[in-house]
Amino acid sequence: MCIHISMADNLPNIAVWDPDEVSIRVARGFRLSDVLREVRDILMIDLGAPASRGGLLQCFCGMRVELPHELAPCGLLTAEVC
Ligand SMILES: [Zn+2]
Repeated sequence: MCIHISMADNLPNIAVWDPDEVSIRVARGFRLSDVLREVRDILMIDLGAPASRGGLLQCFCGMRVELPHELAPCGLLTAEVC
């Protein structure tokens, strides 16, 4: 099962790994670049995902991790371009 990203309120950090839901919860109201950096750290350090290139986030299986539309309103998966 691949990791997915969901938005949440009242988180202790910008991004929180939830092993029960196999998801990374992302707090609302932070800059996208900060969110991406935190999510990437969780994926790579905590979950052993391969190093991402060009702003793409990757699951530990190598699949691309999609961002919620709310987080990347322009619809791009590589949100750094936004
Ligand atoms: Zn996966």
